[in-house]
Amino acid sequence: MNQRTLVIKGGIVFVEDAWLENRFLVIQDGCISAILSASDEPEVADSDVFNATGLYLIPGLIDTHTYGVEGIDTYTGGLDALLKLRQIFPRYGVTGFLPSVPACSRGEIANVAESCEMAMASTDHGATVLGLFSEGMSAHVQKSGAQRQTNEACTIEEFIEILYRYPNVFRIITLAPELEKSTPIFAACQDLEIIASLGHSIANNEQAAEAFVSGYNHVTHLYNAMGQLVEEGKDGAPSPGPAAGALFDDEVYTEIIADGFHVPPEFVRIALKTKHPDKMVLVSDSMRAAGTSFIGKMSFLGQVVEVTENVALLDTGRPAASILTLDKAIRNVVMWNAASLKGTIRMATKNAARMLSLFDRGQIAIGYRADIAALDSDLNVQATWCQGVQVHGI
Ligand SMILES: [Zn+2]
Repeated sequence: MNQRTLVIKGGIVFVEDAWLENRFLVIQDGCISAILSASDEPEVADSDVFNATGLYLIPGLIDTHTYGVEGIDTYTGGLDALLKLRQIFPRYGVTGFLPSVPACSRGEIANVAESCEMAMASTDHGATVLGLFSEGMSAHVQKSGAQRQTNEACTIEEFIEILYRYPNVFRIITLAPELEKSTPIFAACQDLEIIASLGHSIANNEQAAEAFVSGYNHVTHLYNAMGQLVEEGKDGAPSPGPAAGALFDDEVYTEIIADGFHVPPEFVRIALKTKHPDKMVLVSDSMRAAGTSFIGKMSFLGQVVEVTENVALLDTGRPAASILTLDKAIRNVVMWNAASLKGTIRMATKNAARMLSLFDRGQIAIGYRADIAALDSDLNVQATWCQGVQVHGI
């Protein structure tokens, strides 16, 4: 790659779960090559120094579940849209993302997969497309949320054929494990090392536990479109629901939408204070109205949703998708005192990277990719670097 050496100077750097003040981050060939204290200031030309004095320097955020932002959809605009999103997401500190794809026709889903494969190979500087997040192909009708059950959707056989045609593209697939049609998709997930995620499901606590034992190792938007912490038992007494099972299982990754509308802050706090700190992942589950000031009706997943200042709603009044961005999720979680700043950042960086078996990013450490976001003291994104190239900020 042979980039010039870049030095990010004077920041408060998040390294190994600690804040190191007034450091020099040295970046060469897209990777972090040194983290120096002030007394070891490296000699480089002024033009290759970014002054980050007073800014928090954190790993670039990784959004593993999003349908778009700033008017761009992940699943309708083809390659062009995905390449635009690579440029837009760094404004929110995001340096890697999984575009989401709902159930749609065979041709549409194959097009999304093909576009994604090409976007994953793009070498332009921008956020990395890490593969696809699929949901809706096997959703329980009572918990389908915004995932419409349509006759135009491709069949399970066609979907599996597409999974094998693009074996490195699909990374997470949400399934309702209680449905028979999930079984062959789950088998393909196991074969292709795709993460099978429980979601859009009426599985009870026992069924969820069985699914986790059998190889489901992820839960899609905890509390949304699934059974809750407490369900009614046989005799009417409270009984643990699948959300409780997900929180107490130390192996299963669990995503949560911390916008305050999909999940009330109190329930975010319960989740983050209960769940193994390495296994909770913040996601946006945003639709394309995120990052805009649009208010009103908009089409989304083949239906009309009402976009408000805070969330996009179905005509049932239930959330259809968020208008959250991942940097805002971090600010929310910290404001709600649901986790420490360090813990919160980890849930949008290292945990997401490890979940995707990516061991070269998600942390600021020597040899890691220089995917970095700079936040001010109010946790607003001031600058973002993708593989050592600044793609956002002054
Ligand atoms: Zn969903």
